[in-house]
Amino acid sequence: MNCRICDSNSLDLAVDLGHQPWCNHFLRQDELGKEPFYPLRVVFCGRCHAAQLDFTVKKEIMFGDHTYLSGVTRSLSEHFRNVAIEIDTRFFRGRTGKSVLDIGSNDGTQLKHFQALGYDVLGVESSRTTAQIANAAGVPTVNAFFNRETMRGIGRQFDAINASGVFFHLEELHSVCDSIRTALKEDGVFIVQFLYMKSIVENLAFDQIYHEHLLYYTLETIEALLNLHALTMFDAYLAPIHGGSIMGFVTHRGARPSARLDAMRAQEAADGCNTLAAYQAFARRIEIMKIENVDFLNASRRAGKRIFGFGAPVKGNTMLNYFGVGPSVIECLVEKNELRRGLYSPGMHIPIAIESELTDLPDVYYVLAWNFKKEIIANNASLIDRGVQFYFPVNPAVSA
Ligand SMILES: [Zn+2]
Repeated sequence: MNCRICDSNSLDLAVDLGHQPWCNHFLRQDELGKEPFYPLRVVFCGRCHAAQLDFTVKKEIMFGDHTYLSGVTRSLSEHFRNVAIEIDTRFFRGRTGKSVLDIGSNDGTQLKHFQALGYDVLGVESSRTTAQIANAAGVPTVNAFFNRETMRGIGRQFDAINASGVFFHLEELHSVCDSIRTALKEDGVFIVQFLYMKSIVENLAFDQIYHEHLLYYTLETIEALLNLHALTMFDAYLAPIHGGSIMGFVTHRGARPSARLDAMRAQEAADGCNTLAAYQAFARRIEIMKIENVDFLNASRRAGKRIFGFGAPVKGNTMLNYFGVGPSVIECLVEKNELRRGLYSPGMHIPIAIESELTDLPDVYYVLAWNFKKEIIANNASLIDRGVQFYFPVNPAVSA
């Protein structure tokens, strides 16, 4: 394959996590053992420096009917409210007839906050079920993949376009970027939020590597992509969401970068982030992390402790599959989302348990949803008081 951004064929292997199942399809009992496995490898482009997967699971498989609901997690909903307020305050306060398009709008959580500020809103969401939930909640949502064809159907421009946690998913990368330029008013602002690869490497948050994340951006690499489509980033900052995400502000070509964006670019260069050597060092540290985590889990089991997984985020499956940890070590994955009742984790086949239906307590909660550390510790103070240990395999430097 060639680079997803610049089409170069100069790609080197950076991180190899073996063969893994598609991590977002939790299995019914009759599907156990039938799930396909695909290579999960990050390669590094020698020309534009983009880190990316060298294998694509088709988007129709991955995003046709996912069951992730943004509204379920309170800290995310608060983040979405803050985003809406920030965008309105900085760019559109006082403007009449203002509008916003949300790409990958999920259950409409983000757009509800814009509606509250008086925006005309439109969502585009690929999952049928999730789009139905949004429409039923009064958030107009097109059930489609966002691309040139979808944009032709929408046929109007927006003051603001938001893409939160979707940009690394894009199989149709150039069609999407092109459509964003078309859909953005001349003085409009495109807000792109994405996991920051610099934070992933620094935190050892390798579980953010999974088949749905085709690209792992730094500022240098996302700017290379935007520039190909006559778009310019003019400001950015690091937010704590998901253990370190960039909030990037983008408009049409010609805008001048803010001082803080310039400073972040300089820091990336000084840290050598955009080099193959940095990714190879990351890969070696992940191998050590695997040994340490498997040792901890096995020692806990030998001591007679019962271990439950806390949360069943899709990224947890990268970790469980790479560590090779199954139900003989972690009895169940405890989860709020009732759509996952009775299902099993792909690859390792750990059963899901619904939090409100638990009858037993574990000795150890192995926290797969580590990016909500603050919220989890606050919500579970009484369990911690009763002696339940919460073990965080990843401890983000930028805490969520
Ligand atoms: Zn490239």
